[in-house]
This record gives sequence, structure tokens and C-alpha cells, in this order.
Amino acid sequence: MQDQINNLPKLAKDKHKENKTFFTKLKKKPPKQLDYLMQELHEEEFERTDCLKCANCCKTTGPLFTPKDIQRISKFFKMKEQQFIETYLRLDDENDYVLQSVPCTFLGADNYCSIYDVRPKACSEFPHTDRKKFQQISNLTIKNVAICPAAYNIVEEMKKRIQL
Ligand code: SF4
Ligand code: SF4
Repeated sequence: MQDQINNLPKLAKDKHKENKTFFTKLKKKPPKQLDYLMQELHEEEFERTDCLKCANCCKTTGPLFTPKDIQRISKFFKMKEQQFIETYLRLDDENDYVLQSVPCTFLGADNYCSIYDVRPKACSEFPHTDRKKFQQISNLTIKNVAICPAAYNIVEEMKKRIQL
């Protein structure tokens, strides 16, 4: 798995043009069964992929923290929200709260998340490959294939299975 993770930025770069063309066509004419197909591809891939052997998303990007995330996680730590923000977060260029640094401070050496049950919504949904109307997050997905081996494999499988 580590070899694939190390090679992923190059693999994604090599596929970038092909992926752009594919998603441009997908957005124009998404197949009727796309939601079902994505569910199937997502489930198949995550039966093979063990996130605990990877954690590349937690190591390299980290999530946005919504007000609800901040409320829930600071409660878990029995901290005041402002104290939680000052300790762990910063505002990015788009005025969203993000981690002060990566790898994520809540990631253990064993790749377990120490706040798993209350983790940000963005973490629990990443890499978003089972969401409905998947074509609407094409640009995000094109970025995610360089970070997430599962997203990379899912997009490769999509290109085989969907004729546009
Ligand atoms: S909060 Fe947990 S799941 Fe989210 S980036 Fe940090 S370690 Fe990963
Ligand atoms: S979601 Fe993707 S990048 Fe994150 S741990 Fe799982 S396979 Fe790795």
C-alpha cells in the first residue's frame, strides 16, 4: 500500500488530462444509474482497501471543521469551543476552520483516529465516492485521486464501466 501511496501524485498527474475529459463528459451527460454505480464501486473498493494501512488523507490534508464539528469535538474534550479553536485550528484563506498543521494532531502512530466517534463530517465522508450526484464534485475528486488510493482506483473503474 505504501508504494502506491508514494506513487500516487505521479500516477494522478499522468491521468489528469484523461480524468478531466472524462468528468467534463460525465457532468454533461451523467448516466441514469450513476448513484447506484457509485455506491457499488465505493463498497467494492473499501472491501479491498484498509484505511488503517493508509491514513494518507489524515497525514496530508485534514478536514474543514464546521461549527457543528467544533461544538461536538470540544464537548468531547470538555473544552470551551474558543479554547478548542485556539488550541487546534486556524482560519484558512476561505475563512474556514482547518487544522493548524498536518499530519492531523488526532491521528495516532497506529493510524487510529483518537476522536473517531466525533470526528469532523468531512472525515467521515471522505473521499465522498458514495455521495449522490457524484458528477457535481468532479473537481474535488480530480484532486482527491492524488491523495487517496481508493479514490484513484474508483475513478479508474468508473472510466472502464461508464461509456460516455
Ligand atoms: S480527525 Fe481523525 S479522521 Fe479526521 S483527519 Fe484527523 S485523524 Fe483523520
Ligand atoms: S480514505 Fe483514502 S486516503 Fe484516507 S485512509 Fe482511506 S484510502 Fe487512505
